[in-house]
Amino acid sequence: MSNLTREAKGRDIAENGDINVLPDGAGYYVGDYHVDCDATECTCNDFVYRGGRCKHLLAIDYAESVGLLDEPGDDDCVDFDDLPF
Ligand SMILES: [Zn+2]
Repeated sequence: MSNLTREAKGRDIAENGDINVLPDGAGYYVGDYHVDCDATECTCNDFVYRGGRCKHLLAIDYAESVGLLDEPGDDDCVDFDDLPF
């Protein structure tokens, strides 16, 4: 087990360029996982079983906070449940 905090892991993910913005408000791929466009849900086990903000969501938070990402417009955000993943 790594003793890095989730925040630190999220920062590493963002700085390594492992965030891919999907088109049409479909959210992001962060590493191997899918994050919705509001960065409130993730498909990883940590999010699904533990809840709270996993390193993927924290990677988005960090990337936005330092200007690595443009926040997608709210109006073209696709509902997570409607996505074909
Ligand atoms: Zn996650």
